[in-house]
Amino acid sequence: MNILIMGPAGVGKGTVSQSIVETFHVAHISTGDMFRNAIKNNTQLGMEAKSYMEKGLLVPDEITINMTKERIMQDDCAEGYLLDGFPRTLAQAAAFEDIAKETNRPIDVVIDLTISIDQLAERIVNREICKNCGEIYNTVSKPSAVKGICDKCGSPLVHRADDNLESLQVRLSEYDKLTAPVIDYFDAKGLVIKVNAGQSREAVWADVKQALEKFVND
Ligand code: AMP
Repeated sequence: MNILIMGPAGVGKGTVSQSIVETFHVAHISTGDMFRNAIKNNTQLGMEAKSYMEKGLLVPDEITINMTKERIMQDDCAEGYLLDGFPRTLAQAAAFEDIAKETNRPIDVVIDLTISIDQLAERIVNREICKNCGEIYNTVSKPSAVKGICDKCGSPLVHRADDNLESLQVRLSEYDKLTAPVIDYFDAKGLVIKVNAGQSREAVWADVKQALEKFVND
């Protein structure tokens, strides 16, 4: 099963994605993580992406499409993948259709996580991420047992550099302008399942799991 997960920054895509990968055993392709790793490793790609990411702007399509194309062609994607954070523009969606045809790995189902702006702001400001294993916390709704330390691996928790209200506003306006049309694009193909992400983590996951299980069984 090839899955695409959509939703604005802070909606809980990362948390749901971790559960999807563990439950359905698909390869996780997160373009945000790929860019963050490139920056951490000081690669050419990282240097190109850094200034856009810090401002909350999208990295140019050409760079992003080439990076994702290389990733989707790897062997671990043959049995199914979860695409997280891509495509974010119509140009990326169209380019991905060509890549999917070439590799015979088309998107089967799209999960669209929806939420109100107020809830988003709360989540973004309180979000913490483990530097080492990527586990996601919320200082209010899901705090770590020891402040600032990951429950899973004991590494320090950090705030993402772009997790602030200023950057959120830019990211949301980019989302409305550029990414919302991508959902319409897949909706027209009958692939989109909408899930209310304003619920508790458990309720969101129950809805997503049920939708994907139904898809597998149909
Ligand atoms: P994310 O972790 O998915 O929120 O992505 C963090 C940042 O990485 C975004 O704000 C963009 O700057 C960049 N990025 C991730 N995916 C894409 C994409 N598909 N197209 C352009 N930029 C992206």
